[in-house]
Amino acid sequence: MRIDWSQLSPPERVLWDAGVTEPGHIDLAHVAAAHGAIVVYRQLDGCAARLVASSSGAVISVNSGDYPGRKRFSLAHELAHWISDRKTGSFLCAKADIGAQNAEAKSVEAHANAFASQLILPDYLVTPWAEGKKANLDVASALANDFKVSRTAAAIKLTKRSALPVCVACHDQSRLKWHVRNAAFGSDFYVKPELHQDTDAFTMAYGGGGGKSQPKKEAADRWISGSGAYRMTAQTQSLKLPDGTVLTIISLVK
Ligand SMILES: [Zn+2]
Repeated sequence: MRIDWSQLSPPERVLWDAGVTEPGHIDLAHVAAAHGAIVVYRQLDGCAARLVASSSGAVISVNSGDYPGRKRFSLAHELAHWISDRKTGSFLCAKADIGAQNAEAKSVEAHANAFASQLILPDYLVTPWAEGKKANLDVASALANDFKVSRTAAAIKLTKRSALPVCVACHDQSRLKWHVRNAAFGSDFYVKPELHQDTDAFTMAYGGGGGKSQPKKEAADRWISGSGAYRMTAQTQSLKLPDGTVLTIISLVK
């Protein structure tokens, strides 16, 4: 595998320098050890992960009760604080602060999430993997499986790198919990705060059905509002997450 090291982001350089040339090589415990950090999994109350750092090294604790993809992201997030922020003292990171959906705001936590996203899904491996593939939840599930990450993190990665207007949204029964849009989606459209009753996502949120819907085309204004939305078509696919919320990838087809 040949890459231009000067083009890599700092987290990608951490992986490349550790010899990572395929998804199965990404061993975050190994990265932690190489940077002087010990990782322990234990029950944590009130936070998803924590970092206790001193001048001689760090101890990263990850909540043992979380889902595997979640634990992996939490570890990557604490590694970001340790490798990138390099402050001594401690970080207590709440569940709400850790996640690929919170990577854009200008804060220490958002920066750690962006760094963590590249540690688990580095562009130099994801770009060739995703070549020619669509941004939908079938592909996101395969990406999640190959890189051992959550389907949410994989869906966000596919959304952000797509050249088409794509957005990923997470709803519960009552409202839109969060959404991430890519550059092509622009700021002219808004994801509607409530699920439309004719969508598969609505059925999943209320009917208790699990799994994943088939990708389908439907009227875009079931999902978004904004100038001309009623004339547009959206390609959508939804997935029920373990916490009962529903994740949907919405691609606009003009
Ligand atoms: Zn944090």
